[in-house]
Amino acid sequence: MEQLPSAMCARRATRSVRVGNVLIGSEAPVVVQSMTNTDTADYIKTALQVAELARAGSELVRITVNTNEAAAAVPKIREQLLKMNVNVPLVGDFHFNGDRLLRDNPACAEALAKLRINPGNVGKGSKRDEKYASIIEVACQYDKPVRIGVNWGSLDQSLLARVMDENARRPQPKDAIEVMREAMVTSAVESAEQAVAWGLSPDRIILSCKVSGVQDLIAIYRELAKRCDYPLHLGLTEAGMGSKGIVASTAALSVLLQEGIGDTIRVSLTPEPNGSRSQEVVVAQEILQSMGLRAFTPMVAACPGCGRTSSTFFQELARDVQNYVREQMPSWRTQYDGVERMTLAVMGCVVNGPGESKHANIGISLPGTGEVPVAPVYEDGQKTVTLKGDHIAKEFIQIIDAYVARTYTRKAG
Ligand code: SF4
Repeated sequence: MEQLPSAMCARRATRSVRVGNVLIGSEAPVVVQSMTNTDTADYIKTALQVAELARAGSELVRITVNTNEAAAAVPKIREQLLKMNVNVPLVGDFHFNGDRLLRDNPACAEALAKLRINPGNVGKGSKRDEKYASIIEVACQYDKPVRIGVNWGSLDQSLLARVMDENARRPQPKDAIEVMREAMVTSAVESAEQAVAWGLSPDRIILSCKVSGVQDLIAIYRELAKRCDYPLHLGLTEAGMGSKGIVASTAALSVLLQEGIGDTIRVSLTPEPNGSRSQEVVVAQEILQSMGLRAFTPMVAACPGCGRTSSTFFQELARDVQNYVREQMPSWRTQYDGVERMTLAVMGCVVNGPGESKHANIGISLPGTGEVPVAPVYEDGQKTVTLKGDHIAKEFIQIIDAYVARTYTRKAG
């Protein structure tokens, strides 16, 4: 999918890294990632969730590889996905025992498109470099890219102590927060240097430095972007549930993306119990689409409603239209070019209804309190029909379908 011409921010110049069929960095569009929360050893359940995330639009899916059983399940997951016609690259998340799991399960390394390692918990003391080097050796052997992912919850303690000592010797020591930020960036940059020294190509490295505070994330990534040209994966770790997680992630990621920083993103939402895991994918897409950086699915503009709104009908219609176009996208994407950029408007009364509807590709202005019970529809700025009666929702959906078929049908050849 192409960058939208309206995107205002120039991307920072980076290397590009190929992960399976996905290009990350350089001029490539910002990539949406997600992560499963199933037990990887349960390969059927995990494959189903990977497929769900991929169908929602996740372009890379990370799975945890924490035990021998999980490592043994990875090739089976790949196999199940191929049977389901799902070709999304799988990223293996390794901690503590990654060197052993990869060494003992060569088919696991083979089946993965990328390895993610956390330099803070690869190993302790003298074992740390040995274990880290062993993982890099596997990456080189199987030609797999590596994300070196620093997390402030598991920051390399010996490195933090060294950075603190260096800070204490400064004439004007920095405060604790600045030292922590400096240690995060140093951990990522030095770990990448080590990996390159052990033979990993710089074109096979992606970096991340995740924290849970918005201002920390922004400051750390600005510094990281200055200090290297590797593609960067962005995400606010432990963002939280519901609106808190969505707002915090959006606030942090938007500032950085607007500055051209960030080549892949993940929105780490805690799902509601039994809630859909794919919500994090939808939010990530909506961040990119709202910023004009990419287009994934038609967006519905809807007014918030007010005292002039005569019923909940317009809220239901806005929800139903958004759900409808999202559900249609997997099929529309295969038949229609550019349909993801279509704009729709569902408005509650005559005050802003006709104006907003004219700005959209298709808009409907529903009657507010005291207005004549009719709903004019606008297509590309022109009023084309006025709906009334009990079937407005159904008829409006039919108008959308006809517009899509007429406007976006793929040209032959
Ligand atoms: S368009 Fe009408 S119903 Fe919607 S918020 Fe504005 S005044 Fe209220």
